Amino acid sequence: MITGQATIYAILGDPIAHVRTPMVFNALFEQQQRDAVLIPLRVPAGGLDAALDGLRAMDNVGGFVVTGPHKTTAARRCDALEDAARLAGAVNTIRREPDSRLVGTLFDGLGFVAGLRAQGHEPRGKRVYLAGAGGAGTALAFALADAGAAHLTIHNRDRAKAQDLARRVAAAYPSVTTEVGTSDPIDHDMAVNATALGLEPTDPLPFDALRVTPDMLIAEVIMKPEITALLRAAQARGCATHQGKHMLDNQVGLMAAFWGLAPR
Ligand code: NDP
Repeated sequence: MITGQATIYAILGDPIAHVRTPMVFNALFEQQQRDAVLIPLRVPAGGLDAALDGLRAMDNVGGFVVTGPHKTTAARRCDALEDAARLAGAVNTIRREPDSRLVGTLFDGLGFVAGLRAQGHEPRGKRVYLAGAGGAGTALAFALADAGAAHLTIHNRDRAKAQDLARRVAAAYPSVTTEVGTSDPIDHDMAVNATALGLEPTDPLPFDALRVTPDMLIAEVIMKPEITALLRAAQARGCATHQGKHMLDNQVGLMAAFWGLAPR
């Protein structure tokens, strides 16, 4: 039951119809018997400033999730950023403080690392190959470095973006060695796809799957299909694999805690 005292949460994006966040959080609120609701808000690119002004003005808004195309712009509109958001220059979760200030953070990378650990894969001390230097790739690179990865090889179609990301990670985490790679992932403990490749059945593989060895873990950020062509190819070569859904599933608890929702 949503009463007049309910706390309102939201997810902002465009498109928005595909998101799972309302189902996940509303089930959690019901299970915890919490007077709260999370609603989808379709906010086109040009409407973000007005939407944020509105959310700031509403005293019963607790916070909101931010998805594409707003992650970078919303980071610039926040009053304060946690480290993960500052380093990546993007947010995916915002808390509205009682004085209407907006505090932003980015859980994509932390969610990925938490998902790895929940499945028994420890990134600390590992040599990691990362394909993709877009939003997801950037979040993962900083989070893997923060989690103690020993080495990070970054490969991206636009090589300049890989170079820039490798430089930024090395500056923020001097203990991690970084390099710009090719499509060959050999000689790493873990290879991760953080590109958009794999969503469509006609997509090429994000890196050369013939060059993976059975001792490597092959991980995805793509959630649909659950088993991408990359994961299938890796399984055929005897590798352990890690699905994209774990990255999102492991953000729910982080978001709830950031909004001050203690487990019940
Ligand atoms: P961006 O648009 O920021 O980046 C896209 C990345 O994919 C870039 O590295 C881009 O390379 C690469 N890419 C796109 N098309 C091609 C192509 N044809 N050939 C080679 N490389 C290509 O998107 P995001 O990083 O935000 O999202 C990437 C994926 O991550 C999405 O599919 C999204 O669904 C998924 N994701 C999953 C999450 C989860 O919780 N599981 C959370 C967030 C995202 P270039 O720089 O050269 O263009």
